[in-house]
Parts: sequence; C-alpha cells; structure tokens
Amino acid sequence: MLTESKLVADQAVICDTVDAGDYYIKIIKAGQTVRLLDLEGNQAADTLFYSAEDPTERYSASDTIREQGNVYLTTGSVLRSNQNTPMLKIVADTCGRHDTLGGACATESNTVRYDLEKRCMHACRDSWMLAIAEHPEFGLDKRDIAHNINFFMNVPITQEGGLTFEDGISAPGKYVEFEALMDVVILISNCPQLNNPCNGYNPTPIDVLVWDQQA
Ligand SMILES: [Zn+2]
Repeated sequence: MLTESKLVADQAVICDTVDAGDYYIKIIKAGQTVRLLDLEGNQAADTLFYSAEDPTERYSASDTIREQGNVYLTTGSVLRSNQNTPMLKIVADTCGRHDTLGGACATESNTVRYDLEKRCMHACRDSWMLAIAEHPEFGLDKRDIAHNINFFMNVPITQEGGLTFEDGISAPGKYVEFEALMDVVILISNCPQLNNPCNGYNPTPIDVLVWDQQA
C-alpha cells in the first residue's frame, strides 16, 4: 500500500548515510519514527530488530505474518517479536512491498545458490557479525542473528508457492517509514549481494532518518 509521509527531512534528529555493503546499528526510542531512504533505487536493506532492554526478544517473521495474514510488508504492517509483542509499525511506504521470507545472504548460501567460488564474496551475515563484534555494548552475539526483513526487496511467491528473487520495484527516492512501539535496536546490513537482482547488481547507499515522537 503506497502511503506518503508528512515528516519533513529538515526536522529529523538523525540523518545518516549507510554506504553500500556497510552496516548500521543504533537504538531507536519508543515513539521515534525511522525512514529508510533508497537513494539510488533497487537496494535491499537487510534489517533485524531487538528489544533494547532484552535482546533475546527480537523481530519474528512468523509472528508478524501470522497476525497480519499476509506475507508482504507495507503500510499498516505491525512488526512483531518472538513474544508476539508489537515492536514497530510501518506508517509510510512509497515502495509498496518488502520481503521477510527470503532471508539474508550469507557466504554459505552464496555457494549453494550460485557457485563455490562465490564463498569469498561479501554477504549480509558477515556485515551483521562485524557489527555485533565492533559493538559489544548492544549485548548481541551470533545466536541473535536470526530471521530478518529485506526492505525494498522483491520476493514474489509463485502460484506453486515458490519464492523468486526478482528485480526490485523500488526506485531512487523511494522510502519506508516505521514507528517504534518499544525501545529497539535496529541492525541493518546494506546488502552487498552481486549474484541476484536484489540490488540491481549494483549495491548503493541508503539514508537512515529518525524523527522524535510527534506532538
Ligand atoms: Zn544481502
């Protein structure tokens, strides 16, 4: 569902650029709104969320899909935790579809899906592992790297129930916005994948904007 935001970029309290292939980790307070902005289009942002108080509570694709009765994420989707608690809600979306079934790229999956020689290529799970190694203050470790959301990624389901990685439907300047319903840690891998069309074979930067709770 396409919905534009009323928030003005000038009033954001945070505006960070995440380079292609880089990670981003930050605490988002309850009531704050986050916008992920696809600067050049066709870029996947592989994202995990954790309760800032207790990182064993984290985003759960299965709870989210079951409660909304739909496998795609867009405006109105409530992102739920593994305790079925609403963590965030998507409040604006000019892309219209985000995936939470395809999972993140890993060196292991690259070898299975593409070629043994792809093992040395940079992958999202490496970026997440680097993030939690460089930021022990968030209390995350390898077991916390679980199922994720692929913002801007297009993984339509075939009539037979299969998953296909398709060319993105995002474009330069498209964005998705979500409001935090609890204090959360956001962990993004700005996907470096070069073997499927999720980044248009050309990973590009994204912006992360944050607004304080609106009056
Ligand atoms: Zn990736």
